[in-house]
Amino acid sequence: MIQALPSLEAVLDRDCEQRVEPGYLEAVQARPGHRVLLFQAGKAPVHGNALAFLDPAGVAGGLPADTLTIYLGKTVDGSHPTLPDGTDLVLKVLADDAGAPALLPEGAEFLGYRDAAGLLSAADAAIFIQAQAVANWHNSHPRCPRCGAATESEWAGWMRRCTVDGSEHFPRTDPAVIVAIVGADEKILLASNFAWPANRYSTVAGFVEAGESAEQAAVREIAEEVGVKLHAVEYLGSQAWPFPRSLMLGFLAHTADTVPVPDGVEVREARWFSREELQSAVLSGDAGIPGRLSIARELIEHWYGGPISEPGDAAATVAGVRA
Ligand SMILES: [Zn+2]
Repeated sequence: MIQALPSLEAVLDRDCEQRVEPGYLEAVQARPGHRVLLFQAGKAPVHGNALAFLDPAGVAGGLPADTLTIYLGKTVDGSHPTLPDGTDLVLKVLADDAGAPALLPEGAEFLGYRDAAGLLSAADAAIFIQAQAVANWHNSHPRCPRCGAATESEWAGWMRRCTVDGSEHFPRTDPAVIVAIVGADEKILLASNFAWPANRYSTVAGFVEAGESAEQAAVREIAEEVGVKLHAVEYLGSQAWPFPRSLMLGFLAHTADTVPVPDGVEVREARWFSREELQSAVLSGDAGIPGRLSIARELIEHWYGGPISEPGDAAATVAGVRA
């Protein structure tokens, strides 16, 4: 099992059955206990190490008329470190060119997910991901794919309806596979992409094509990018990754091949690591691996058998390797 990601328990109850009712958003916003999360151009306000949720009294009337309002959900009991159980969260998506709102508390700033994720709790990171995913979809689907007419947001922001033919359109997600490759000697094969710093290594990922199963996509992508043939793939878990709209399906896979062949297009180098080699390479700075709260890191640590220590950790000692 993947441990930190993904939890079976969502942070927010999206109230899917009720949110389709007309007037639902208005009813939520009439309740003083709800909180507002602003979102603009892929960024949300962060204060210290938490998302800055605003009191609705401070937001009223202060946002442009074309701001999109979306119901995110209410906090599941015990799921959030600071918000009370059952707190309704409303997302306000400002147009990219609306100008930064002057509503933020002192010290808060708009950050993108990659800059914020290292600061945030897992609960806030999950809320950020949900906000990013639904905001991306609205921003990229202003028109009907059938007739080209404008669409309008309904169902508290979870459906867009064509203003001409009435067709209903829902948030899209693109499935992608991400694979930790294990060899016959239990070493892991990690790849370094041309787009990354030379010593950064990670698992291999790629999109599922139309008409293809996730398992077939894993086998195909791994053969294409690092040139090894997988003979077993095991699904471990998934992570929403809305950049712009992926759902990462995580696999642990095995190969009998020992000599990787990087494609030379995306992948610059593919390198085998034993558990001891990887931990020592990370601590010495010889290899960088994906950050915590990413499914790539979870897959690597699943193979490793526990957390991998980094140079900046409070106690940068080599974590025990489970046999
Ligand atoms: Zn239409």
